[in-house]
Amino acid sequence: MTYLLDALNARIGEFVHLRRDIHQHPELAFEEHRTAALVADKLEGWGYAVERGIGGTGVVGRLVRGTGARRLGLRADMDALPIDEASGTEWASVHPGLMHACGHDGHTAMLLAAARHLAEHGDFDGTLHLVFQPAEEGGGGALRMMDDGLFERYPCDAIFAMHNMPGVAQGHLVFRDGASMASSDYATITIEGIGGHGAMPHRTADPVVAAASLVMALQTLVSRNVDPLHAAVVTVGALHAGQANNVIPASARLELSLRALDRDVRALLERRLRALVAAQAESFGCTARIDWRPGYAVLVNTPTETAFAREVALDLLGADKVTLNGPPLTGSEDFAFMLERVPGSYLLIGNGQGGDDSPAQSACMVHNPGYDFNDANLPVGAAYWVRLAERFLVKG
Ligand SMILES: [Zn+2]
Ligand SMILES: [Zn+2]
Repeated sequence: MTYLLDALNARIGEFVHLRRDIHQHPELAFEEHRTAALVADKLEGWGYAVERGIGGTGVVGRLVRGTGARRLGLRADMDALPIDEASGTEWASVHPGLMHACGHDGHTAMLLAAARHLAEHGDFDGTLHLVFQPAEEGGGGALRMMDDGLFERYPCDAIFAMHNMPGVAQGHLVFRDGASMASSDYATITIEGIGGHGAMPHRTADPVVAAASLVMALQTLVSRNVDPLHAAVVTVGALHAGQANNVIPASARLELSLRALDRDVRALLERRLRALVAAQAESFGCTARIDWRPGYAVLVNTPTETAFAREVALDLLGADKVTLNGPPLTGSEDFAFMLERVPGSYLLIGNGQGGDDSPAQSACMVHNPGYDFNDANLPVGAAYWVRLAERFLVKG
């Protein structure tokens, strides 16, 4: 398969330039106007049927070849983060306070490099849907595209996405079956009591004591409700009540973040949280309100598609550059929503370890001001997408 890598390598200069251009001009969630226009113009130039403005600033490129009925989706993300860049690269952000600190510039460039190769040399039979989504970083751009009819208008039999991972050897691919990234939900709990004089607590219903007790009781969601062999996180990140040492306030507020690596555990956390909060508040003569805000879902890779994606990698790169079943991550990713609708798999590509053959920035963790996407991954990621597309949309 090295001829494919060689072919992509030979013309990768254009995409290194493009990646660095996107990097220099980062755009936040749903503001990816320049990036989306650049992506759409390139795809059109290579003969794709392009739709712009799906789910805000999303772009889809469609390429049909032959008469095959199979439809494949490949997804990249385009948004940047509100971080002041300190990577020290020549192509660092020209917009203070904005930075491509998660490598979405690289994901976009890898998929574009694959797009051109597939348009010019792609040996496949079927329909290719390239999905460039906005707002992965907390904005739920995937959901917005789906609400806008993404899979009705661009149905896919399977969909795949790739994210870079600093600290893993450059170009090494990591796969995982099943639950691979955590759900993330948020809750605000307001405890209402009866305020009064600090010297006469018996004439009040003290929400501070109720809140303090609740913080401790919440620890039992993980320790006493969740199966010890499953993972979950319940964090009380903020607790606000009162102003003065001799005043019992009328209310207290808690802010929570909850994560799980299993859809049932996620539902259990919400169910037990609601019961615990109501019972705890009542036991102190208070009442409680919960504002539950669902975030990203658990990302679950389907077994058949993950096995297929892994096979493609083994064939292209060899066993020493492939991790067959890596550990789950507690981070969240909105590609999870796409995988709730369409089977598929989310894989990682090593960004490098900052050794002799990788820039120091490649080992710097994503969301850090010193991070940069490793351009050596452009031909590897692109070759992988090309090979995956040709094998999924294989000629009959
Ligand atoms: Zn990120
Ligand atoms: Zn990311």
